[in-house]
Amino acid sequence: MKLNTSETANFRIFYDEADAEMLETVKERIKTTYTKVRHDFLITQDAGKFDFFLCPDVDSFIEYTGKSKENYQDWMVGNADYKRKRLCILSPRAVRDRSSEEMMKVIVHEIVHIAMDSLADADEVELWIAEGIALLYAGQTEPEYISETDFPKLNSLIGEEDFADNGGYDYAGVYVWYFIEKFGADIFKRVYMGLEQSGKYLYPEFEEEAVKEFRKRGNEKEVKMDIKAQFNLIAEEYDVNRKKFIPCFNDYYENTTRLIASNIAEPGRILDLGAGTGLLSYFWYQQFPSSEFVLVDIADEMLNIAGKRFKGIDNVHCQVLDYSKELPAGDFDVIVSALSIHHLDDDEKAKLFARVYGKLPTGGLFVNYDQFCAGCPEMNDWYDSYWESQLTDSGLTDSDIALWKERRKLDKECSVEAETGMLRECKFKTVKCVYSYHKFSVIVAVK
Ligand SMILES: [Zn+2]
Repeated sequence: MKLNTSETANFRIFYDEADAEMLETVKERIKTTYTKVRHDFLITQDAGKFDFFLCPDVDSFIEYTGKSKENYQDWMVGNADYKRKRLCILSPRAVRDRSSEEMMKVIVHEIVHIAMDSLADADEVELWIAEGIALLYAGQTEPEYISETDFPKLNSLIGEEDFADNGGYDYAGVYVWYFIEKFGADIFKRVYMGLEQSGKYLYPEFEEEAVKEFRKRGNEKEVKMDIKAQFNLIAEEYDVNRKKFIPCFNDYYENTTRLIASNIAEPGRILDLGAGTGLLSYFWYQQFPSSEFVLVDIADEMLNIAGKRFKGIDNVHCQVLDYSKELPAGDFDVIVSALSIHHLDDDEKAKLFARVYGKLPTGGLFVNYDQFCAGCPEMNDWYDSYWESQLTDSGLTDSDIALWKERRKLDKECSVEAETGMLRECKFKTVKCVYSYHKFSVIVAVK
């Protein structure tokens, strides 16, 4: 059968001409659901691209899902197969006993499965957890069908048959909602990933409380991620490798920031140049949680992660911007940067430092945590070869190291001496390298 195609960032959609008029609605539902689930659970692994088949009839549904005719039953209207990167939904036109709106919920349901599947193999996840999250997001759990007296206990929802027979499809969404409400999205994510057991959190009255709360709460239900958990999850996913690439990580980021912070007044505004995933700002934020932060980076994907790291904190702002060309509006008391400026050549560095100087008040601070060459080629070779040997010992994979070597080709390191010289030329009053470990140094310049 010949189907038309249409693309979104993560989905290639196959549809029949007869379904063309619902295409935009379907696409919108797919996109918003996928984005929301990934956002709520901080799912940042790139899962690649999926094929989404809006199947015009039952035969094509059977064909594209790879089911056999004998096994097909008429309640089967949607299917998500993460391993084959494929979703199949029966066109609402071909489904008799469900409205279009109900079929849209089926689409949302399957998209939730596909999005969550990048966290864990769905077959390894407890059924009420895997189904519950899909039912919850799809709005397939209706408060009016929930009984406060006659509800299934979770231990009766194990195994596909019991799950269906005992009301799993009606109640799993309720239980997942309450679990997240009570223990947080981060714990739910950990349980989903198999990092923790749900049994550690459950207790005898859990189901009863869940149905009562669910009915009381009506439609005001939102998945909320706790801020501290947010930081930790991001750290688990992103900062682990950073620590391996920077052998002196703790002294470099944390202790140096503490040293500086303990000697200055609380800044009104802090600017982070080349903020990336917000790691440096995170250390500054710990010292000055009331300051206003502006994080700029040219890479919007990285900045999105920073956005997640600081989600819900309204004194932290992210802005996609090429700081080698311009700085964000307004003045700043402190301007910081980590492992970014060494991608500029000396000319661009000098221009940047002059602009930075112009943004600071007298007494204002510029702090550059960066990567520097040794100043003489022999010692630079020492540093480089020793660094590489440290990476090999740190548990990084060969491909991590190969990528690192590729990235290193973009480096335009100058020496600490050259950079402190440039900063003095900009008329910074005090310029001092306050931390140094081989190639990693931190320079503080006071206006
Ligand atoms: Zn499902």
